[in-house]
Amino acid sequence: MTETVQINPTPAYRRIATEEAFAPPQMLKMYLDLYESRKLDDPGFDSLWGFYLTSMAPRPAAIREKLADLDAIRIADMDAAGIDHQIISLTSPGVQVFDRETAVSLAQDSNDMLHDAITRHPTRFSGLCAIAPQAPDLAAQELERCVKLGFKGIINNSHTHGEYLSDKKFWPIFEAAEAMDMPIYLHPYTPPKNMIGPMLEAGLDGAIFGFGVETGMHLLRIITSGAFDRFPKLRIIVGHMGEALPYWMYRLDYMHAAGVRAGRYECMKPLQKKVSEYLRENVYITNSGMAWEPAIKFAQQVIGEDRIMYAMDYPYQYTPSEVADLDNMDMSDELKRKFYQGVAEHVFKLTV
Ligand code: CA
Repeated sequence: MTETVQINPTPAYRRIATEEAFAPPQMLKMYLDLYESRKLDDPGFDSLWGFYLTSMAPRPAAIREKLADLDAIRIADMDAAGIDHQIISLTSPGVQVFDRETAVSLAQDSNDMLHDAITRHPTRFSGLCAIAPQAPDLAAQELERCVKLGFKGIINNSHTHGEYLSDKKFWPIFEAAEAMDMPIYLHPYTPPKNMIGPMLEAGLDGAIFGFGVETGMHLLRIITSGAFDRFPKLRIIVGHMGEALPYWMYRLDYMHAAGVRAGRYECMKPLQKKVSEYLRENVYITNSGMAWEPAIKFAQQVIGEDRIMYAMDYPYQYTPSEVADLDNMDMSDELKRKFYQGVAEHVFKLTV
């Protein structure tokens, strides 16, 4: 995991990393119990956390240690990679694999733990608020508490027991997020049981591909459900260069319009705008896990320069050399400053 790399210590911008994960040790223990009991009936969970919790290979072992740290290890890693500030969120699937009562109390505990860390390191960390989608009626309450504690947004780790935020029963979460002007980071989780089969068979269920397919579909479901017509000021952030959706925009617009015109699906209603317009007006994108100049430039071109921001995906892809590569992108200093700093400051209303 260690590498020696020369990173410019005085760039013309602050480097803010926006999809950085942590896990309370208590939650990792609960995950291990869940994995060993096989009670969840979620092959994606068993694949993901069975690997990260039990593998003795160097990468998963280091990730276990770094996930649980909100002090010296994390800050030393940030310093070594030239990262000034992390926006930290509860790692996937967060509280979303538990029952309602456990999820509500674990969300509060993890928010308290993250808040304590932010209090210890106010210039280095900000946080996203974990809520329990299992209790959408209580989301506003925890969100209000989080706003008072200084949190900058909400983390949602994709589906909850196979259900998606496009389902209106979850819309009290959107209502609260819009009312408090808190963006929702729609982070991946492994595909649910009824989707994962052929991916798992080929080892493609995780971050290599399955996460992106599932999360991209989740965002599309939210768009086509009409949620942004109902909540026009709702802001959603997706990582991994938009989970491939920017590349799909032309066909999404064409086929959505064609499907609506033909009345092909009862569930597919007309929307006020094109699919691509919601992507440009309600969505922000981070490059987590994709330190790749052509993809970043494409997204800046088709989604907008004021909507694309930096993320490292610490500790899962802790690769200090990517910072040197991104510093060297063939891009104006002004645009690089937006990418690393300006967009994140705006989206999360950062003051430090
Ligand atoms: Ca991540």
